[in-house]
Amino acid sequence: MTDVLHLSGIRKSYGDLNALDGIDLTIPGNAYVSLLGPSGSGKTTLLRVIAGFEDPDQGTVLLDGRSIDDTPAHRRGIGFVFQNFALFPHLSVAGNIAYGLANRETGALKDKTAIQRKVAGMIELVGLTGLEGRGVAQISGGQRQRVALARTLVTEPHLVLLDEPLGALDANLRARMRTELRQIRERLGVTFLHVTGSESEALAMGDTVLVLDRGRIAQSADADTIYNRPAHPSVARFLNCYNLFEGSIAGDAFVGPAGTFSIAGSERLPGGRQAYAVRHDRIEVRPLPAAVTSDEERVEGAFVASEYSGAAVNSFFVLDNGQVVEVETHLSHRPPADYAPQERYGLVWKRDVALLYA
Ligand code: ADP
Ligand code: MG
Repeated sequence: MTDVLHLSGIRKSYGDLNALDGIDLTIPGNAYVSLLGPSGSGKTTLLRVIAGFEDPDQGTVLLDGRSIDDTPAHRRGIGFVFQNFALFPHLSVAGNIAYGLANRETGALKDKTAIQRKVAGMIELVGLTGLEGRGVAQISGGQRQRVALARTLVTEPHLVLLDEPLGALDANLRARMRTELRQIRERLGVTFLHVTGSESEALAMGDTVLVLDRGRIAQSADADTIYNRPAHPSVARFLNCYNLFEGSIAGDAFVGPAGTFSIAGSERLPGGRQAYAVRHDRIEVRPLPAAVTSDEERVEGAFVASEYSGAAVNSFFVLDNGQVVEVETHLSHRPPADYAPQERYGLVWKRDVALLYA
């Protein structure tokens, strides 16, 4: 499969602010790519540059191997779906979807039957059957989002940019739309570049996950790699599923305010700075004295609170230095434990699951 999109050396500043600080990026055809990053990291700016709504100060964009630097947005053939999608309020569901087909600048369809056939196919694909004739004010938010998606997909772009398209939906609908987006994309074989501020969404949806940090790509890898081996402490922090311990390496130990951990034989990841990270779901809670074996590390913390979410419970413990350690237990692995408020527990992990950044 050839690459759909290739960016090299993309820079974009607003005054003193480098919104995009040298982006090099290749996106394959027929792929689901998640773009994850904190608010303000440049995600929307990057999509706007790719779509042609914004000119970069430097750098080149290739679509299907051809430069589109001088191609205006409406001639790029790139689809765009965003959170605050504007549908035509006076048109029906079908009318909104047909609009782009009949009115686009290149390859506009004039044949009414051909338009109707394509629109009907798209309505079925996005699950709007039966609502064709409704006005877009008479359908739900989730249905409107489907219309926005259908309106873009019906023009058969090779690349669709989605900027937090599920951000306005409630949690249930959001979860359902995630599955549907994946299925729709697979059936069409197009590439989705999906911006999300949610780490779980990015990891669940993307074949490839790009992590943006202050206008640079901090990591680009498959979801498993991002989850198991974040490339920098900042990525680990942003993923929101790691406990990050500050400190420094001294001989065979990592020494910091939370304690001293043996690192004999540990692999060192190049992270730009020294840090020690343990994933939330790699920690086991033991009543004191919480004996450990020779391949385990331990800190002690006082229980604060637990939060239940569908399949897991997350418990928070505060260490003597004030750091909060989060422990995630999947309910399929273990029944929920009752920890006593303010009681101290041992928090234990196997040395070889820790990530050591050096
Ligand atoms: P994200 O989508 O990741 O939240 P954005 O791409 O919207 O981030 O913004 C990246 C940075 O560029 C932010 O600091 C934002 O304030 C700034 N920025 C974005 N667009 C403009 C603009 N038109 N004028 C000035 N600053 C902007
Ligand atoms: Mg944004």
